[in-house]
Amino acid sequence: MSGSESRAQAVFQITNAENTPVKKPKSLEKIWATDVFTLTKMEESLSKKAYKAMKKTIDTGEALDVNTADVVAAAMKDWAMSKGANYFSHIFYPMTGASAEKHDGFIISDSTGKAITEFTGSLLIKGEPDGSSFPNGSIRVTNAARGYTAWDPTSPAYIMHTDNGATLCIPCIFISWSGEALDMKVPLLRSNSAMDEAAQKVLRLMGERKITTLNSSCGAEQEYFLVDSNFYNLRPDLVLAGRTLFGASAAKGQEFDDHYFGAIPPRVQSFMQDTEEQLYKLGIPAKTRHNEVAPGQFEIAPYYEAANVAADHQQLLMTVFKNTAKKHGFVCLMHEKPFAGINGSGKHVNWSVGNSTQGNLLDPGKTPHDNLNFLVFCAAVIRGVHLHGPLLRAVIASAGNDHRLGANEAPPAILSVYLGSQIEGVFDQIAQGKLDGCDEGGIMDMGLSQILPFAKDPGDRNRTSPFAFTGNRFEFRAVGSDQSVAGPLIAMNTMLADSLNWIAAELESTIDGKSNAAIREGTIKVLKKLMKEHGAAVFGGDGYSSEWHEMAVKERGLKNLPTTADALPYLKDDVTKALFEATGVLSETELASRFEVHSEIYINRIALEANLVQSMAKTSIYPAATRYLSDLALTAASANEMGVDFDNGTAKTVANNINGMMKAVSKLEKAAAKDGFKSEEEHMQFCANDICGLMEDVRGYADALEADVADDMWPLPTYHEMLFIK
Ligand code: ADP
Ligand code: MG
Repeated sequence: MSGSESRAQAVFQITNAENTPVKKPKSLEKIWATDVFTLTKMEESLSKKAYKAMKKTIDTGEALDVNTADVVAAAMKDWAMSKGANYFSHIFYPMTGASAEKHDGFIISDSTGKAITEFTGSLLIKGEPDGSSFPNGSIRVTNAARGYTAWDPTSPAYIMHTDNGATLCIPCIFISWSGEALDMKVPLLRSNSAMDEAAQKVLRLMGERKITTLNSSCGAEQEYFLVDSNFYNLRPDLVLAGRTLFGASAAKGQEFDDHYFGAIPPRVQSFMQDTEEQLYKLGIPAKTRHNEVAPGQFEIAPYYEAANVAADHQQLLMTVFKNTAKKHGFVCLMHEKPFAGINGSGKHVNWSVGNSTQGNLLDPGKTPHDNLNFLVFCAAVIRGVHLHGPLLRAVIASAGNDHRLGANEAPPAILSVYLGSQIEGVFDQIAQGKLDGCDEGGIMDMGLSQILPFAKDPGDRNRTSPFAFTGNRFEFRAVGSDQSVAGPLIAMNTMLADSLNWIAAELESTIDGKSNAAIREGTIKVLKKLMKEHGAAVFGGDGYSSEWHEMAVKERGLKNLPTTADALPYLKDDVTKALFEATGVLSETELASRFEVHSEIYINRIALEANLVQSMAKTSIYPAATRYLSDLALTAASANEMGVDFDNGTAKTVANNINGMMKAVSKLEKAAAKDGFKSEEEHMQFCANDICGLMEDVRGYADALEADVADDMWPLPTYHEMLFIK
């Protein structure tokens, strides 16, 4: 079958497929967390003492003794087996940002050869996957492959149902034999502790007496595309690279703004409902769902949770989405830019910190100018973004995300903070050493008797800011849809810890006396100093504008880091090293290994794309275009015979574009073969500046051909088909 026949068949199959009907949703109480080994289940199955110990560990991170682990393991096994699980798996989160698992049976045989099941505390606490196949960024030499996974009791165990049966999944850390973190979870836990310790210091200086453990929270909004698998399978670029490397824009894009928040198509709705049911069973609080800006693009946002749990849940959510899409004949694309010319996908990471005694410390309340705790924590974030903007850019750097950042779509590659007019006003006063009052949101009264007046937010939103204050949290909007939220959370918690430590030291030497007035006066002084040094990171205007790009760099000294090649080296920067060293979140070796792992992934990804561009151009687009050209030549010849003056303009354009494309392919081929780079930095710059441009050149010619070549000869599903046919 020719490529174009396959396309026609794909359309036929999609339009004739029977859709899974949209079912009535199951009642939430019946399914909520049924696949999770929750605290309630522990309370039912554990002794009082064991349950209390577990609860304390979950609430405060306190160590659990081995005997309790034995008891918990036994209860966990019984529960899992009652749900049909014969296997358990330590789930861990290697530096690549993926999730990894190793399955083991509960089964062993006893001395008489009879099969029995066993799951002890030591099996729960420690696993030993062969670590050598996970990237370790030179932490270990290849023959020293030992790696351990170790149970994280603060993230609940759960059952994963697949066609192969049920498996008990146990969230774990992943470390080397020498004790270095090979994963995302260890630094996330460490960053949370560092933040907690620093925050407690500051709160005590602010006069607080009872202070419970502080935790960071995260609510991640996940954008994704759904493409029918019939089309997907005909696109080698989607299958291997997760994005289209070719493809002319459809006549219709997102210019009508008719997709965003529009009615969700029934087939998609049935997919969403299916995913939500599974998420609920897994105890993941899926809350919001809607169409996104681009055709074929959607969003899911669960309710926020403790950062460590939210990060594990976010990984699980991505797995559930990808698996469930398959069942519905879709492929769920999490790539940051699957289609050129329309919106890419991000993952907005909403982040706050708080505890049970002081509440959410990023909640300004009704009178922010009187809320010193809030102002201190908010200022700490401003300082963090100012000092560590390049780090925040580095932790979201990937080949995929480069297509969004700095490409005048999603937030720019310059990290600045948006506060909203009210809070910005309060900090303007602080910069002048005072704190008198603040603007209020006021009341929205439309003067229509049937519409009830309501309280307005004190500030508008700013979609162009990469890091925006949104009322009671910060929203890191520049994170890529395919990325783990752990990287950004580690960076945010750590920079906050560092700023709070700085503030604590300043408060200690500035506050003169114990009275509230003395604390207030001292705090204003410290915050004034902070804003003088770091206020340059605050920006409320249009982040996409060229004026900002110029002003940010020239006048404010902020860094514009458009590509991964520009951003990743900041992981090795002295400022970053000092930050992680001082807070104890990552050692120099651990940090260096992260640079190595991510630069290698970037280089490999660009190499893969470069190879694919060449092979698709040569074996799929070139043959289609030349066939069409010979058709045109035949037509011209017969027109000539008939004595008709045939306009061969199209033939010439096609011929020129074929030549142009093949020349560009040769150039790309040569460039992709280059080696002998002195460093990863040099190699990454070559990828970003040379290879990416050459791939675009090939694509330019190929997309022009797509616009001219007969549709029934074109071998690849088009943008129109992939985005609009569901
Ligand atoms: P929007 O699209 O308007 O930004 P959504 O409702 O889609 O908002 O998503 C907002 C996300 O922020 C949700 O995951 C929500 O639970 C989360 N969130 C709300 N409050 C907080 C908070 N204090 N800390 C962290 N995340 C929060
Ligand atoms: Mg949002």
